[in-house]
Amino acid sequence: MSRIAYVNGQYVPHMTAAVHIEDRGYQFSDGVYEVVAVHHGKLIDMDGHLTRLTRSLTELEMAWPVAPAALEVIIREVIRRNRIRDGIVYMQVTRGVAPRNHAFPAHQNSALVVMAKRFPPFDFDATNKGVNVITTPEIRWKRRDIKTVSLLGNCLAKEQAVRAGCYEAWFIEDDGMVTEGTSSNAWIVTADGELVTRDVSNAILNGITRLSIMKVANENGIEFVERAFSVDEARAAREAFVSSTTSFVKPVVKIDGDPVGDGKAGPLSTKLLAYFGEHIKAQIA
Ligand code: PMP
Repeated sequence: MSRIAYVNGQYVPHMTAAVHIEDRGYQFSDGVYEVVAVHHGKLIDMDGHLTRLTRSLTELEMAWPVAPAALEVIIREVIRRNRIRDGIVYMQVTRGVAPRNHAFPAHQNSALVVMAKRFPPFDFDATNKGVNVITTPEIRWKRRDIKTVSLLGNCLAKEQAVRAGCYEAWFIEDDGMVTEGTSSNAWIVTADGELVTRDVSNAILNGITRLSIMKVANENGIEFVERAFSVDEARAAREAFVSSTTSFVKPVVKIDGDPVGDGKAGPLSTKLLAYFGEHIKAQIA
């Protein structure tokens, strides 16, 4: 079965789907995006993703390409046409096509692309062996709270991680504080047992999974603190994990080659993954 993408009003074969060379997303990274997980045919945490998309568009003074309700219809149609039961849907809005000029065009005609991809169903019961991360200097721009397609800093760091045989890279600011991963939020359980993730500011993307983990933590009486933590704290931590739409909760067992805690997926990380699994199952019931 051939994949189908939505491009500016049309459903087209994924293989030949294309945008104009003067699309501002292509020339200036002048675009935003969202990735939503599809689990058993259901869109997971869709409201959170739409809220964040609205915020990204607002921050960049970018017009909606279609009404939010129409976007949902298009997303569901892309999922249907691609027969996705488990996977992700990717949507991207750019400021559209205009003669190349840094300033915004007088008449913005936002462009919309939606595509979907199938993944094997996530097995919440599988033993989680954990992943390794490296650390790397924070080189990105200062509006990481906006989910833009301007991801070159993220790509460079992820490439470093892959070359080091690792799953993710954590960005470290000049003062030694961890911001986040290249495509995930960073969490630790400190040596004192405090569950910590970075507080929300322009320094990080406020992950939808991050928010859902906080929700399930609250529901299950697990305390956490939102604050900056240092790479030294992370190295001394009992546990660490990353969170994202595609990774859910992934225990981190090594940082720069050194084991975190006893080098195995930690008990709190494992528990939070299980609670997050319940959170997803509640949406597909
Ligand atoms: N930070 C960055 C830089 C990301 O790209 C992502 C993935 N979108 C996240 C955090 C996690 O966000 P979410 O849980 O919404 O996928």
